[in-house]
Amino acid sequence: MQQLEADIQFLKGVGPKRAELLNKELNIFTGKDLLFHFPFRYIDRTKFYKIADISENLPNIQAKGIITNFQTKGSGRKTYLTADFYDETGKIELIWFKGTKWVKQSLTSGKEYIVFGKPARYGRKINIAHPEIDKPEDAEKKITSSLQAVYPSTEKLTKNNITSKVFRKIIAGVLETSLSEITETLPLYIVKKYHLLPFRKAIINIHFPENAEKLKRALYRLKFEELFYIQLSILKKKFGRRLKYNGFIFSKVGFYFNKFYNEKLPFELTNAQKRVIKEIRKDFASGKQVNRLLQGDVGSGKTLVALMLMLIAVDNGYQASLMAPTEILAGQHFKTIRNFLDGLGLETALLTGSVKQSERKKLHKDLESGRINILIGTHALIEDIVVFKNLGLVVIDEQHRFGVAQRAKMWKKNIRPPHVIVMTATPIPRTLAMTVYGDLEISVINELPPGRKPVKTIHSYDGKRLSVFKFIKEQIKAGRQIYIVYPLIYESENFDYKDLEDGLESISRAFPPPEYAISVLHGRMKPEEKEKSMQLFIKGITNIMIATTVIEVGVDVPNASVMIIESAERFGLSQLHQLRGRVGRGADQSYCILMTSYKLSKEAKIRIKTMTETNDGFKIAEVDMKLRGPGDTEGTRQSGIPFELKLSDLSKDYKILETARNAADLILTEDPELTQDKNQILIKQLKSLIVRNKKWGMIS
Ligand code: ADP
Ligand code: MG
Repeated sequence: MQQLEADIQFLKGVGPKRAELLNKELNIFTGKDLLFHFPFRYIDRTKFYKIADISENLPNIQAKGIITNFQTKGSGRKTYLTADFYDETGKIELIWFKGTKWVKQSLTSGKEYIVFGKPARYGRKINIAHPEIDKPEDAEKKITSSLQAVYPSTEKLTKNNITSKVFRKIIAGVLETSLSEITETLPLYIVKKYHLLPFRKAIINIHFPENAEKLKRALYRLKFEELFYIQLSILKKKFGRRLKYNGFIFSKVGFYFNKFYNEKLPFELTNAQKRVIKEIRKDFASGKQVNRLLQGDVGSGKTLVALMLMLIAVDNGYQASLMAPTEILAGQHFKTIRNFLDGLGLETALLTGSVKQSERKKLHKDLESGRINILIGTHALIEDIVVFKNLGLVVIDEQHRFGVAQRAKMWKKNIRPPHVIVMTATPIPRTLAMTVYGDLEISVINELPPGRKPVKTIHSYDGKRLSVFKFIKEQIKAGRQIYIVYPLIYESENFDYKDLEDGLESISRAFPPPEYAISVLHGRMKPEEKEKSMQLFIKGITNIMIATTVIEVGVDVPNASVMIIESAERFGLSQLHQLRGRVGRGADQSYCILMTSYKLSKEAKIRIKTMTETNDGFKIAEVDMKLRGPGDTEGTRQSGIPFELKLSDLSKDYKILETARNAADLILTEDPELTQDKNQILIKQLKSLIVRNKKWGMIS
């Protein structure tokens, strides 16, 4: 067996006790795992602080001085050890809570040492707890590089004295004994072409950088590799799909599209809408199966684009289907589309969970016979019992609300997979899109219909509610409608957030009938009740809509111009942006008011500030990714892609990602199934990645 694969407990400086801790705390089992336990930063160990300059605001510091005056303090089991540490400029304290016997034995009072650690303030004193300590003569011998690695650790490991120093020691040991086993993980022609540091050199330099330049190259190489293999695995699927399936060919733009365009379309398409339709039309005619992500900010007019694409499908003799995540939204799409298509002689239908059995039977029949041209619906249309005569195009609205498996199921609705367009109004940073939706082509509608005024966003505190009410009254007087959104339906013991029930009571008091009328909408209501409430609001009969986030996606009431979000600190950025997108749809100036308590976390403050500063969904998505990390942003969670990027940061490493993706794309264009000799190493690496993370196979 290779040494690198051997259990760490047999490594020099580890042993069974440390091995167990490393297993449990960091999932490190083998020498190889250790080599892949990368430092998260480096410290310049050639720099020494004067003791007078040390403050609690500094990160780890290094200083040279004399250690004296050891004292054991405290009592019982809570004793601890302190010592003075001084130079010609000043004095601080060193402190140990554990291992004190060993400290006293190994240090000599009155001698000079190099001390290294994180300063903290305790009362008026600055101290360093559990510092690393070297004798000056040892330190100089040891420092081969000015950059010393600092490793991610856990409290338990630190308590057990497994410090960065220990990591450096055991990793150095692994490198010494197993250097020859560290072999290249990328094809040599790729290493050459992209001027990458060889793998072995990269590994050595990431742990023990020769200099800053080499460290930079080591990081680049390892990030490249990390992103490259993810891209290769995603793109390989895409290429494989292309080999396996031909797409239906929609060769023409025919009667329905043209008639709609010339006679029905109530406004000029925006340039972005035109461009996107053109892009996709070209795809439709190409003979490959289209899988495309259509991104467009809220209100950019995606529904219309979806409709026109569906008309192309119909023009070519196919059925088309539009799937939405909620009944409200599906119902709304159905009405919009039926209005648009009025008099065109096409059959449209709506299928949701609340369609009655008898109607459903007829609908299934009409779908199978081909009488229905366009089917709009919710998850209900995924069910196996729903059979099309000849489904050619599926559009999935608000894709982030669906799972990957659901997307995949729509593929099976015809003998060949239909074309699939997924739409999302939750903009995703480009780097994330390339990864999460890396197997899709991407189109972006980066323009809003003309005449829209950007929504004005204001932050207000709960205490200022009365002035907000006054503002609402003015707006209602001017003929506008208002949304008020709550994070919870009922009061909760666990959260101190506003709830709808309570809100309804106070709003009803402040806005009494007959002058005002209120609609209510939340997830616990029956579909009919929801529908009724929504209709009253759409028709302008009610002035205020009190709701939970069920109204978050898609709902379109142009006369509603004020969105009030209660306990706005509770919501994530993409949710806030979606909610705000419900207003600003008409010609009037719209407002979004974010109500919060006075007590806000640092992150909540950033979210609120971002919302008041920009309406740009892509900018908001970038901030969101920085705050939450790529693995936790909306759209990612359901993607099935594990975001355990070890080194790369998708908010910063865009260039590397792009290069890595291009590299993978070029390789697959030349050798889509990776059968060539020079590419065998790629197959081997991909396999070991898949073993490490089976979930990668889930991307459809
Ligand atoms: P979203 O992209 O958020 O799904 P919608 O499709 O709901 O946006 O469109 C928002 C509103 O803009 C709708 O009322 C729609 O009729 C209107 N709209 C779409 N395209 C245009 C256009 N080119 N010019 C004017 N209004 C448009
Ligand atoms: Mg929409």
